[in-house]
Amino acid sequence: MRTKLVAGNWKLNGSLQSIRELIKGIRAGMDTVKTAGVAVCPPAIFIPEVASLVKGSRIAVGSQNICDQDSGAYTGEIAGSMLKEYACDYAIVGHSERRSIYGESDDMVAARFAAARRNGLKPILCVGELLEEREQGITEEVVGRQIDAVIKLEGIQAFADAVIAYEPVWAIGTGKTASPQQAQDVHAFIRGKLAALDATIAENIVIQYGGSVNAANANELFGMPDIDGGLIGGASLKPEDFLAICQAAD
Ligand code: PEP
Repeated sequence: MRTKLVAGNWKLNGSLQSIRELIKGIRAGMDTVKTAGVAVCPPAIFIPEVASLVKGSRIAVGSQNICDQDSGAYTGEIAGSMLKEYACDYAIVGHSERRSIYGESDDMVAARFAAARRNGLKPILCVGELLEEREQGITEEVVGRQIDAVIKLEGIQAFADAVIAYEPVWAIGTGKTASPQQAQDVHAFIRGKLAALDATIAENIVIQYGGSVNAANANELFGMPDIDGGLIGGASLKPEDFLAICQAAD
């Protein structure tokens, strides 16, 4: 039995004051979230503050990325050991904004995925197709290739302690959500692909959906058999919306 997970990706948003209010609001409503796992992924500089603000609650902390290397001359990067020191449990890798704006390749994402595991963090591997790729009918090919890069580097066992987030790029921040059936079809493809290599890992892995999830559409999306919660961008910045989405995952 999989426990659903809702993770908020705050992206490049917030100030010390606003994140304090945001966590205060989420904490205040956490008793309304019964079973779903809840995590927030702040901008890296706010991780220490958020880690201290969530202490004693069920809210986990994640990073929005992680360096593929563990130390050395990698200016601007943050190592897994540093994230771990601030009690991070999760590290998002391969978000489409990292892939498309900052040019992170499938191999680079796989190396970051490996760094997360090596340092005791659970990677949240984002995969998803562009609009033109969906229109060309190659969604499964694209998502399959992104997952294969990790399997090639780390083996199928790596997914025993990982999360996958299916995020169709055309649905991220656009207000256009994949229909529950469109999302379910890709989630079933991902689970089936993993099952061909290891049935237990496939059955147990949490596969989140991400892409304009909000309080109004979360119930229907999370009601699909292979959708195990969500990776939430815009709607994770308002406590009431984020909590409503978490409740939908219960
Ligand atoms: C995301 O950034 O991972 C995301 C899904 O964003 P949004 O919910 O705003 O589409």
